[in-house]
Amino acid sequence: MIPFLDLKQINVRHVEEIQKSINNVLHSGWYILGEEVRVFEEEFAEYCGTKYCIGVANALDALTLVIRAYGIGKGDEVIVPSNTYIASILAVSANEATPILVEPNINTFNIDPQKIEEKITSKTKAILVVHLYGQSCNMKPIIELADKYNLKIIEDCAQAHGAVYYGKKVGNLGDAGCFSFYPGKNLGALGDGGAITTNDEELAVKLKALRNYGSHKKYENLYKGVNSRLDELQAAVLRVKLKYLDEDNQYRAKIAEYYLKNIRNELITLPQVESGYLSHVWHVFVILSEERTRLQNFLLEKGIQTLIHYPIPPHKQEAYSDWGNLSFPISECIHEQILSIPISPVMPISHAQQVVEAINAFK
Ligand SMILES: *Cc1c(COP(=O)(O)O)cnc(C)c1O
Repeated sequence: MIPFLDLKQINVRHVEEIQKSINNVLHSGWYILGEEVRVFEEEFAEYCGTKYCIGVANALDALTLVIRAYGIGKGDEVIVPSNTYIASILAVSANEATPILVEPNINTFNIDPQKIEEKITSKTKAILVVHLYGQSCNMKPIIELADKYNLKIIEDCAQAHGAVYYGKKVGNLGDAGCFSFYPGKNLGALGDGGAITTNDEELAVKLKALRNYGSHKKYENLYKGVNSRLDELQAAVLRVKLKYLDEDNQYRAKIAEYYLKNIRNELITLPQVESGYLSHVWHVFVILSEERTRLQNFLLEKGIQTLIHYPIPPHKQEAYSDWGNLSFPISECIHEQILSIPISPVMPISHAQQVVEAINAFK
């Protein structure tokens, strides 16, 4: 069996270091907002190239708090991609702002910059970009639009830790970058975790309060904040794993390159890399096929586990039935045809060979 993703294998590579870190936290007697979180925030900001990093409980909170900190709420509109994980859109709804969906480019799956301007109104406050599947969005035209209309750019980097766009890492391409450290992400904790990166000092200060009951100073509350903190334990684990992130991403790229070179089947469309080799960290490797269900079953029979990211587009979710019958044909087509094949930093090349052979044999 070739698993889609072997999380245990990913983590046990560093078992000694991780156990030592966990032990340090255990014996420190300090479990919330201590040295581990503080140092991880420093290290992750440095990694992303930003001035600040604020650890939070997960990426949904990261996105929700950034939107809130920018004062975006009822009556405001936020541009979001129609092809994304639902969390990007839930964060807008959570602030009672209106998500305005924009179709992706069919080849890269990321928001199509050409289609953004027509959706901008006097109510638009921000463009929330999602670097989906590990590939940075084409940011240049998006930054131009944000400048022209005075909009914030919020990056959902939950799938793209370490992706580089023209020399800058994601999380440092807009006003704020939101990361998830959910175990299956490129940088994954042993539980939930998240962070915001930014160069905006005012935002950073506000977020530090918002994540901690709205308090800058113990028992003094500036805002009606929330409890959304990154755990010391998770920060300690993340500090170990951050050291290996680039190496892991390079290995993912090697598998991806192998797939791109060797998968040859007219029933299958391969993903396209838009702005250079480093711009993609291959969180998932997705292929398109009109015969998706048959292909998935065929691969399963050959012992290859695949997943669908994602089976139902956000505008077709029951949770958003109040939107009525919206149509986003490109997103719908992607959701009908997409299939994620195995890729990970611990997947042997021999497994990738077996995946290629199986896919090429599909008729
Ligand atoms: C995983 C993910 C999220 C949510 O992350 P959590 O930490 O689980 O809240 C948000 N956006 C995208 C694109 C994701 O893949």
